[in-house]
Amino acid sequence: MSVHRLRTIQQSIAACRDCPNMVGNPVYGAPVTSRIFLLGQAPGPREESYGRPFAFTAGKTLFRWFEETSGISEEHFRERVYMAAVARCYPGKAATGDRVPDRTEISNCSRHLKLELEVLQPELILAVGKLAIAQVLGPEVYTAKSKLIDVIGKKFAVTFHGRKAEVICLPHPSGLSAWHKTEPGKTLLKKALKLLSRHPAWLEEIA
Ligand code: SF4
Repeated sequence: MSVHRLRTIQQSIAACRDCPNMVGNPVYGAPVTSRIFLLGQAPGPREESYGRPFAFTAGKTLFRWFEETSGISEEHFRERVYMAAVARCYPGKAATGDRVPDRTEISNCSRHLKLELEVLQPELILAVGKLAIAQVLGPEVYTAKSKLIDVIGKKFAVTFHGRKAEVICLPHPSGLSAWHKTEPGKTLLKKALKLLSRHPAWLEEIA
């Protein structure tokens, strides 16, 4: 794994302006050579100013989950896990919440993702939120009828952009979502975090 190659990919992400409807500019994590690859949906409105993903309220919840389950601090997580997203730019507002990246934007941004996965060859992908879960599991596993209860708390083996990896799915930690605060979401989230805390890649990289 090469930090230099990751930096080169990230320079190309930083310069990317392929999606005219995106409101923000690209946001990405540190060039961490890790066996664990976190895939989120897209940055929120504040992340660009902080210069890193999950830097605001959703991130606080996400990192609290890891802290409570494994005693891992936010900074330690950021130093040990590569953080990417289905789309790297803030898509702007929708009627309720933030706009979900469209098919063209997802396809445009997947070229960055493919390069990152080629370099990192992660053993474990943490897919955070429905959009990331749908991308990683693919339409045969996460169909149009699938719900979070079908996938949270389970481990999957996938081939994603030509790379074999195991996947653990997490709900989106957004404050707008009540899924992880009510049953069965609460219990399924605990199950997913327990699976994560026992995964060999997690134990080797971060615990
Ligand atoms: S979302 Fe991705 S492909 Fe689109 S402009 Fe941002 S970095 Fe480029």
